[in-house]
Amino acid sequence: MNDVNDMDDKCDSNEPREIITVWPDFADAFVCKADRCQHTCCRGWEIDIDAATTAYYDSLEGPIGEELRENIDAQADGTHSFHLTQDERCPFLREDGLCRLIRTLGEEALCEVCTMHPRFFIMSGQLELAGFGLACEKAVELLLAADSLRLRAEGESKSFDFGALLAFLGREVPREWLLPPRELTLAQFSFLLAQMKDTEPIDAVWPQQLTALRLDCRQLLPRYAKLLSERGERAAEKLVSYLLYRQLSKADAYGMEALCRYARCNAAFIYLLAAKTHDLPEAVRRWSEQIEYDEENTARLIEACGQVPAMFF
Ligand code: SF4
Repeated sequence: MNDVNDMDDKCDSNEPREIITVWPDFADAFVCKADRCQHTCCRGWEIDIDAATTAYYDSLEGPIGEELRENIDAQADGTHSFHLTQDERCPFLREDGLCRLIRTLGEEALCEVCTMHPRFFIMSGQLELAGFGLACEKAVELLLAADSLRLRAEGESKSFDFGALLAFLGREVPREWLLPPRELTLAQFSFLLAQMKDTEPIDAVWPQQLTALRLDCRQLLPRYAKLLSERGERAAEKLVSYLLYRQLSKADAYGMEALCRYARCNAAFIYLLAAKTHDLPEAVRRWSEQIEYDEENTARLIEACGQVPAMFF
């Protein structure tokens, strides 16, 4: 199986159907930045521990076993999670950004969440679509460095473009649906900010960031257009495509038009944030932790964006 056409053969054959996992082409280059990461994922999130790993940790003897048991909370529903420190860090995150469990017990000692993060997996038709969440610095670096969004079936060498994937899934869309507006009107700007304000803030800084954007509106509109033109249409299309890729399992529920508008609106917001901060990678990452990592925020935005008239956005 070498490309999207071979995937077609595989899915059409009379053999028992196997799940084919598709990854972005840059997946093999993913390596956690560990101590070089400015926004470690070992801080600020609740870390659930699966039952098998809890049992393994329970069985460990010696100081590390004792320390593990002291730092695991049992929830009322029978699940377990690490007891975060006051500043919401994993208790096993060292000051230098490295993981004490990996250093002491090896990577195989990690729970499922820590092993899999920042990967995501969604189903679309017969395909499992995999990728890396953009709240991860390394994932953002890889996406922004890629020329376009290309994908590959797991274990295969030949890649295909995002359009081919959509065609394979029977979800083709016009290219314009994958491009954010070259310029934002004041009405579009106000719409984006109102929608973002309506989401559940991840922290106290998020509403402040939105206020700063609103106050800077007049300067930001031309800077948005300049940034988009400097980065180029292809880069904007890649970003919209990747935001859409992660939501493709919802195509039946919301329709492709609403999902594309969600992706376009959010890419426009990211460029707006980057126009303010002059830091596109951080704008992508920050947007992702606020929106993509909160299912309710994502659903709220898909619904809101899906309802605006096609002419508006
Ligand atoms: S955010 Fe990404 S690069 Fe940073 S520590 Fe987590 S997995 Fe590693």
